[in-house]
Amino acid sequence: MSLTTRFAPSPTGPLHLGHAYSALLAHDMARAAGGRFLLRIEDTDTSRARPQWEELIYKDLIWLGLTWEEPVLRQSDQTEVYDAALSTLAARGLIFPCSCRRRDIRAALSAPQEGAPLAPGVYPGTCRHRPMSDRQPGDALRLNMRAAVQSIDMPGFTEGGAKHAGTHRLDPDRMVTEIGDAVLGRIEIETVSYVLASVVDDAAQGITCIIRGEDLYQITFLQVLLQGLLSLPTPAYHHHCLIRDDHGKRLAKRNDARAIAKYRAEGVTPQDIRRMVGL
Ligand code: GLU
Repeated sequence: MSLTTRFAPSPTGPLHLGHAYSALLAHDMARAAGGRFLLRIEDTDTSRARPQWEELIYKDLIWLGLTWEEPVLRQSDQTEVYDAALSTLAARGLIFPCSCRRRDIRAALSAPQEGAPLAPGVYPGTCRHRPMSDRQPGDALRLNMRAAVQSIDMPGFTEGGAKHAGTHRLDPDRMVTEIGDAVLGRIEIETVSYVLASVVDDAAQGITCIIRGEDLYQITFLQVLLQGLLSLPTPAYHHHCLIRDDHGKRLAKRNDARAIAKYRAEGVTPQDIRRMVGL
């Protein structure tokens, strides 16, 4: 099977050096292996995605010297595909509607809990008993993690990035206590979460190796579980180290100082960018 990689940015701000590193690495690995490199625009978060950022993504990547196959998949063009995946999970009783707001979750987490302690931020399960027939506009749709891990044999994945290199099998108890009932979508405002949309698209596009930043490593466990639940293939993963600013902080989209467009305007060359990210 030929190597197929992708770069899947969300158009919610300018691409910075960290994105350039992911894109160049995924592109170079595919080219070196005679494989395929795809670009996917992950614009499911309609509150933050903007056309001007999407335009800038194309401009930056062309300037960096990358080429990709057309047509580019834009997630906002195919929400029915994600709805179908959510419906598949819901039909198996693995999704429940949740009306908790952040402060409800905080309050529930500060009360005494039964069972194994949950990691910080893990949903306490307040709405888990609610059937889908009870869903209301504005509800989040959450995965019932306990039911999900009990419904299939635990899948695993191989990781090629230096920090976590090796084969990892999902541990059902850790999935419950460390990830919990993740939000996979939201009713009425037509949003599916990035975690689910990305899994559906990686399978549909035949991606064989996912190259992305170390900050997404933990999400991989949830995504591999979703692949198992939806009977989709699990690609190989390669999480690369993060590019940090001069103070050692990881770059964020709002960190315009490291934006590719800014470097370009200052006369920096694509070769300089490659050197800056260590390629
Ligand atoms: N769209 C995600 C982001 O821009 C990346 C998704 C991925 O590489 O899996 O952070």
